[in-house]
Amino acid sequence: MTVATRAPAHIRSLSPYQPGKPISELARETGIPEKDIVKLASNENPLGMSQKAKAAAAAALEEGNRYPDGNAFALKAALAKKVGVDMAQLVIGNGSNDILEIATQTFLTPGTSAVFAQYSFAVYPLATLARGATCIQVPAQNYGHDLDAMRAAITPDTRILFIANPNNPTGTFLPGNKIEAFLAQIPQDVLVVLDEAYTEFLPPESRYDAIAWIKKFPNLLVSRTLCKAYGLAGLRLGYAVAHPEVADLMNRVRQPFNVSVVAQAAAVAALKDQDFVEKVAENNRRGIAQLSAVFDELGLEWIPSFGNFITVRVGDGAKVNQSLLAQGVIVRPIAGYGLPEWLRVSVGLPEENARFIEALRRAL
Ligand SMILES: *Cc1c(COP(=O)(O)O)cnc(C)c1O
Repeated sequence: MTVATRAPAHIRSLSPYQPGKPISELARETGIPEKDIVKLASNENPLGMSQKAKAAAAAALEEGNRYPDGNAFALKAALAKKVGVDMAQLVIGNGSNDILEIATQTFLTPGTSAVFAQYSFAVYPLATLARGATCIQVPAQNYGHDLDAMRAAITPDTRILFIANPNNPTGTFLPGNKIEAFLAQIPQDVLVVLDEAYTEFLPPESRYDAIAWIKKFPNLLVSRTLCKAYGLAGLRLGYAVAHPEVADLMNRVRQPFNVSVVAQAAAVAALKDQDFVEKVAENNRRGIAQLSAVFDELGLEWIPSFGNFITVRVGDGAKVNQSLLAQGVIVRPIAGYGLPEWLRVSVGLPEENARFIEALRRAL
């Protein structure tokens, strides 16, 4: 008997999350200089972060010896005002991944289950299995969520249902009215985690205000992040908006100092710089148009995307990916999601997208 064999079976059977390949790793492997490598693999912000956020983060380093404000007062005050809720409805996370973890820690135990869609975010099964709970994966419909099937899949032991809108890795989108009607049919004791990691990329006509629905659906949790459109992926900052009773439980479970001094300060400044977010959304809109036009020209099938990435069918995904890597371009193979013929490409700067396109033409 070793210590490792004593770990519970549900821990020993976890498969690790497969992140996008770091630039430094590809540089080590191929000898290509880091500056010549284009990474479009992790839905990161090609415009960096707001200069205001950067300045606030640098200033906050002065307080690096102090523990952060565990209640994140300044950040919660800014968020509460921005989204129109009480501070008691907020949970701040070390990225929204942390929010997903805290939600599962709060509500899942062995003997309970979580419902989510096929081809949806990899962290849902991971966080569910880490609690010893059961995954109920519901077949996708046109690469997106089949809400009727998800509702029908709920069992008496279901405690959480995850919806990513827009979805990752497929970029599909459910209109707000569909989600609102769905919520009305879900048992009140099932927490619906509506993961809106890409909400800032939605065109104005697709926007909806899920946070306003928490009043009538106290079992709704809306998860957001500053890691994508706001560019704080490396600093890590996410948040949840929920009923105060739900937020209170989650705030007991989370680590007391889960979000750093630097991330909190950067987030407060980032929220004030909406001009930056608009520039990011505009770059994204153009990038999606640039990439999808080329996919059409090449006769490749692609999934219309509402996120900051686009998923395209290239045939042998592993082979095309190898060729792209050899040319210094990192994208995301999604065979692990059950989509071995597809690659997910994050939108970059116009010249980064062009580098990818050039490499893709050669790879095909
Ligand atoms: C990227 C992503 C997240 C988590 O991102 P964080 O960096 O932890 O905020 C959550 N949900 C979805 C669907 C994502 O794609």
